[in-house]
Amino acid sequence: MQEEQLIESIDKLLLEALDKRASDIHFEPYQHSYRIRMRIDGVLHDMLTPSPPLALAKQITARLKIMSKLNIAEHRLPQDGQLVIDRYAMRIATLPVMNGEKIVLRVMDNHESELTINDLGLTDADLLTFRQILDYPQGLILVTGPTGSGKTVTLYSGLKRLNKTERNICSVEDPIEIPLEGINQTAINLKAGLTFAIVLRALLRQDPDVMMIGEIRDRETAEIAIQAAQTGHLVLSTLHTNSSVEAITRLNQMGIENYLLSSSLKLVIAQRLVRKLCPHCKVVAREQIKLDNEQVPHYVASGCLRCIGGYKGRVGLYELLVITPDMQKQILANQVVLPANMTSLKMAGQKLVKQGMTTLAELNRVLGDT
Ligand SMILES: [Zn+2]
Repeated sequence: MQEEQLIESIDKLLLEALDKRASDIHFEPYQHSYRIRMRIDGVLHDMLTPSPPLALAKQITARLKIMSKLNIAEHRLPQDGQLVIDRYAMRIATLPVMNGEKIVLRVMDNHESELTINDLGLTDADLLTFRQILDYPQGLILVTGPTGSGKTVTLYSGLKRLNKTERNICSVEDPIEIPLEGINQTAINLKAGLTFAIVLRALLRQDPDVMMIGEIRDRETAEIAIQAAQTGHLVLSTLHTNSSVEAITRLNQMGIENYLLSSSLKLVIAQRLVRKLCPHCKVVAREQIKLDNEQVPHYVASGCLRCIGGYKGRVGLYELLVITPDMQKQILANQVVLPANMTSLKMAGQKLVKQGMTTLAELNRVLGDT
């Protein structure tokens, strides 16, 4: 393909992916084919059918490397960088694979979201709880869930609510995902020896009121977070656990004693994102399903020109574990029983199925067996 034509085609392809709200674009060389896929609302879709000829792989790879100022002569080592198209920034990562180099572009946040806690999709009761606990002068608030479950947006929305003149808010992140005016954000840099723990200790000497820790991954970070949460700071962070109650177990495994947890932990939010049914093409399923002991109708995904595979956009599912005095006693006794009135992720999801917002299949995909 002519150089100019190639440049134009790649630009067009990237803009199309952005237009479809893709979060990632994959360029994959296989033995006999070249595949380009994009991730939309958490699911991968083929971008071009039929796939472009494998012969184009080298040209496309070279062009993407030029766009992001990577070394086009280097094929044997992974590289990473950044490129800008339109007003969007993308992170690029290359990797040598069996048949060439695979490239993944990750679209950075375009700041379209307002990042307010009102837009998270929390129920009125959960929103009130979150607001009240964000107003605490000290303590630890954790958001848990797998990668891509929307934890960061929840944390940033919380920070944005706290972002006032009278509060010094600091964050340590890997990497800084969304720049926020008024917040002192530091990225860790492992190559330079700048770890979460080192930044956190430095932050404690910066007269902080609120501290955000991108993720608690190790004992040292957990210990500093707990210590800060007990000495007059509000600490917000994330943990990689499936449910809210597992956060307690995970911190125990990291060596945090229950007496420290019971006195510092205030709230654990577990969350997931499920795809929303397209309102233009959803269809009622033939058979009803049994939810909460009642037979209810539900919808299945279809697909039309206004959506992808019957889905468009995502909505959050939340499970809030509030550390009440009673829960504190349970943590101390190492016998946590979930409150009867707590809405679990599964219950939150089933409610959306009942409302026709999403499908049972989507809920199963995101939560596992239901
Ligand atoms: Zn549709």
